[in-house]
Amino acid sequence: NREIHLASRPTGWPTAENFRLVEAAVPTPGPGQIVVRNQYVSVDPYMRGRMNDVKSYVPPYRLDAPLDGGAVGEVVASQAEGFDPGDVVLHGLGWREYALLDATAARPVDPTLAPVTAYLSVLGMTGLTAYAGLLEVAAMKPGETVFVSAAAGAVGSLVGQIATLKGAGRVIGSAGSAAKVDRLRALGFDAAFDYHDGPVRDSLAAAAPDGVDVYFDNVGGDHLEAAIAAMNLHGRAAICGMIAQYNATEPPAAPRNLAQVIGKRLTLRGFLVADHGHLREQFVTEVAGWLREGKLSYDETIVDGLDQAPEAFLGLLRGDNLGKMLVRV
Ligand code: NDP
Repeated sequence: NREIHLASRPTGWPTAENFRLVEAAVPTPGPGQIVVRNQYVSVDPYMRGRMNDVKSYVPPYRLDAPLDGGAVGEVVASQAEGFDPGDVVLHGLGWREYALLDATAARPVDPTLAPVTAYLSVLGMTGLTAYAGLLEVAAMKPGETVFVSAAAGAVGSLVGQIATLKGAGRVIGSAGSAAKVDRLRALGFDAAFDYHDGPVRDSLAAAAPDGVDVYFDNVGGDHLEAAIAAMNLHGRAAICGMIAQYNATEPPAAPRNLAQVIGKRLTLRGFLVADHGHLREQFVTEVAGWLREGKLSYDETIVDGLDQAPEAFLGLLRGDNLGKMLVRV
């Protein structure tokens, strides 16, 4: 049973030395418990925050203990009613080969309805983040212009497509490479740009000549500043993430134009997907329908081997991924 432990807390950008591969015993379940052999584990940007020893909405990872996070796997031993070996479950003890957990913390998933990876991406927390952020937090209305950053990533690529499916007038995405920009166009984005090609403010102004009504922020910093500059009267921003500053050791230099929220009567609203569970049923029904009808695509970047999980995580922060970054255990 291999596990990835946090060996030390990163300062700035994490390195391979912050992680350690540890051999541990395969656990056995007690009453009410199951043991799951993980098939896929998720690596997510929020994990960077949990590597710092600071108080936040989720507790920090402990040193010299396995990290955790979303995972899907097969039950291999069970002492819990309703769970049998062979069942596939979604749970929160990733970054390890074998997970021991209370059955109440596992959610059965149906591998015949969708590939199991989809429960960690389009049909899971990632998809719900896009759906809830765009439709509930930012309350996008048909005809509006939507801008999303980190648009070729897991959440962003779904935000843009859902916006189009829900009747957005114009959908614009930014991403970190020409290949990603091409992918966004293929996914149906009306405009896309590589944020390395010039100031985000200029690229966005060119892509959104009539301004932006809804901004879905995954990046913060200069992207948020550019969006504030481009936003129309009564514009709304769903503040989902600020990945540009997760490894920062200095406070961000932008946005410098926050005062514009007053004159433009903007709403900038932060949110956590965990608060939007009430949308889950509606979200699964609608998104599964779009998938079935071939109206929604989702990308996954799958890295092989649990020992490669730290490298996959570093790759996620660097932008190596198209769509959801996953590790096949
Ligand atoms: P992604 O799949 O989008 O992966 C992260 C991407 O961020 C990378 O691929 C990279 O793409 C981009 N990126 C990294 N650094 C920068 C930078 N300095 N400037 C611009 N882009 C950068 O991850 P997720 O879809 O899982 O998450 C997207 C965002 O949503 C994150 O900020 C995350 O924290 C947040 N989130 C928030 C949730 C909530 O409940 N509020 C829930 C889930 C996610 P590129 O090549 O384009 O640079």
